[in-house]
Amino acid sequence: MALLEITGLTYMTQGKEILSGLSFSIEASEVHALLGTNGTGKSTLAYLIMGCEGYRPDSGEIIFNDKVVNDLKIHERAQIGITMAWQEPVRFEGISVRDYLSLKQKGTDSSRYLEMVGLSPELYLNRMVDKCLSGGERKRIELASVLELRPKLAILDEPDSGIDMLSTQDIINVINLFKQNGSSVLLITHREEIALIADRASQICRGKIVCSGSPRDVADYYKAKKCLVCDGVVCNE
Ligand code: ADP
Ligand code: MG
Repeated sequence: MALLEITGLTYMTQGKEILSGLSFSIEASEVHALLGTNGTGKSTLAYLIMGCEGYRPDSGEIIFNDKVVNDLKIHERAQIGITMAWQEPVRFEGISVRDYLSLKQKGTDSSRYLEMVGLSPELYLNRMVDKCLSGGERKRIELASVLELRPKLAILDEPDSGIDMLSTQDIINVINLFKQNGSSVLLITHREEIALIADRASQICRGKIVCSGSPRDVADYYKAKKCLVCDGVVCNE
């Protein structure tokens, strides 16, 4: 059985079907890239897996580690090993980087995780996780906190094109750290060169997975079907 198994997942909001009978799986220790143009439902899928407030399936099942998690709350899913780094990284007024990292995981060496994401502990541990940090710095701090948790599944939802907060090489380094931890990763990205380091990839179009396979094959499919200019007609006809 896969670590994450999603079958027939449908999600509607404001009378609009965002996900339409989507099926998809991630194996233990697998890095799985999810490709798709803007507005195809990638973040919605991530929020449903994480169990964010207001995100519950209308039909279908989300099975994690052999357990149906449809009705579990976000913190209950975190407890069983699902975590997420958000598209827009965390910002908390009045909390230091040191406290933010030790809130999530007591008794570990936060410095080590900051170093892993390329931030000097001396320079950052006493800074505040607020607007004085750049988006890229907050993203790194958030990734350090997710790494520190050693989740079974890390969901990384990259910002849509145009606002990449970390370089391709930075993201590849972070993915490799998750791999070393034995975590599975759901990697939501629009950058082909990042998708290519995954073990497997899937293409989402209009709320459905339309192609799964090797990252190379899925990236080629994405280009061959001209996904960037298609409105979904080809894959959903
Ligand atoms: P992606 O992450 O692939 O860019 P999203 O999952 O953010 O796509 O959005 C998928 C579709 O759902 C879009 O058409 C978006 O406008 C719509 N959508 C997302 N959230 C809401 C919401 N809270 N209310 C209404 N429509 C939404
Ligand atoms: Mg998104």
